[in-house]
Amino acid sequence: LSLSLQAKMSRPVQARRLEGIDKNIWVEFVKLAATYSTVNLGQGFPDFPPPDFLKEAFVRALSGESHMLHQYTRAFGHPPLVKILARFFGKLLGRDLDPMTNVMVTVGAYQALFCCFQAFIDEGDEVIIIEPFFDCYEPMVKMAGGTPVFVPLRPKDPKDGKLMSSADWQLDPAELASKFSERTKAIVLNSPNNPLGKVFSRGELELIADLCVKHDVLCVSDEVYEWLVYDGKEHIRIASLPGMWDRTVIIGSAGKTFSATGWKVGWVVGPNRLLQHLRTVHQNSVYHCATVAQDAVAQGFQRELELYGNPDSYFIQLPKELQQKRDWLIQSLDAVGMKPIVPEGTYFLVADISKFKSDVPDVPDSDEPYDSRFAKWMVKNKGLAAIPLSAFYSQAHKNNYNHFIRFCFAKEEATLKAANDILQKWKQEKTTP
Ligand code: PMP
Repeated sequence: LSLSLQAKMSRPVQARRLEGIDKNIWVEFVKLAATYSTVNLGQGFPDFPPPDFLKEAFVRALSGESHMLHQYTRAFGHPPLVKILARFFGKLLGRDLDPMTNVMVTVGAYQALFCCFQAFIDEGDEVIIIEPFFDCYEPMVKMAGGTPVFVPLRPKDPKDGKLMSSADWQLDPAELASKFSERTKAIVLNSPNNPLGKVFSRGELELIADLCVKHDVLCVSDEVYEWLVYDGKEHIRIASLPGMWDRTVIIGSAGKTFSATGWKVGWVVGPNRLLQHLRTVHQNSVYHCATVAQDAVAQGFQRELELYGNPDSYFIQLPKELQQKRDWLIQSLDAVGMKPIVPEGTYFLVADISKFKSDVPDVPDSDEPYDSRFAKWMVKNKGLAAIPLSAFYSQAHKNNYNHFIRFCFAKEEATLKAANDILQKWKQEKTTP
């Protein structure tokens, strides 16, 4: 008996770096959506299929002649994929890229981000994060021993009678500048931005770039929504601005690019002096992601390179279709008074829930931000899943903008219609008690 008592572990098992980052909103909201939702506009993934040419490429990779595609490939990226990514991004950036040193394939953009923070951030380093932000940046910086420093996008009132646009959310230049110091190692830029759909303008990018150069700071540029830009807006790559190539890592995702988030193929593009350190993290964590998926993505990019700028290109077709879906959702929300913020990019849309507060009264002094309780109530009572905007703010700022929820509109027409029906019915119940 005494031996078995001794055998039970009593020492603390959790590493210190996990303190305070054990909660994750996706675990909670994905479960809620699975349990209660009839219409899921929560997590960011399409409910329509990837394009046929991509699925066919996967089938070819899977059952074609080369059974070696079922085996390990090169750790830092399947050669056909890094080669085509180097050609494709070389064209976009106007530079000669070496597939072996300027490109690295990762397990989704997620692993690319993880490699960046592990490779660049030391204990005590500060990393500037623009709020609201894709939530994993904060715990990833902390796990690397760094300190996140937050700077908010601040909303300006739209012109009379107009809906607010994601472009109305802007950085205050003086506030941004005040966050840079000799401790700043990196800034994370996410344009087009999840959750707002903001596409940073050239002027805004120049402001960030000038500060990076002045303070000798790295830029982790998360560009996973690079093709999802609307209304003729342009996605500008910060790495193309003066002085930035040398200090920027560009992150991309086949999941977002080809509507196949489950494949988990991502990549980084950048100078070898930065990527060499990402390779060190990569070789000591995962070996690589599925070879067949990488091969199929390579074929997808081959097609897109051939059709570049052509109306048949998926990178032109997808945003065209999504812009239409965005406009449907805007109409549905505006009609019921859940004021949408018109996104310039991404497949997300943030809406103001203030007018629905009477249905879900606030609990004074609650730790939980109002929007989070609202989103939970909505999925449980209306079957409609969305994500509270506070999930995209740091702990200290969760209550700054807590009356918004984020919808994903990368959905079939029928899904968006079903969401519209729920909203319409809800509005009728409100006006005719
Ligand atoms: N960055 C942003 C801004 C995202 O929204 C996401 C996915 N939601 C990712 C990175 C992760 O992409 P992946 O699925 O390729 O890992």
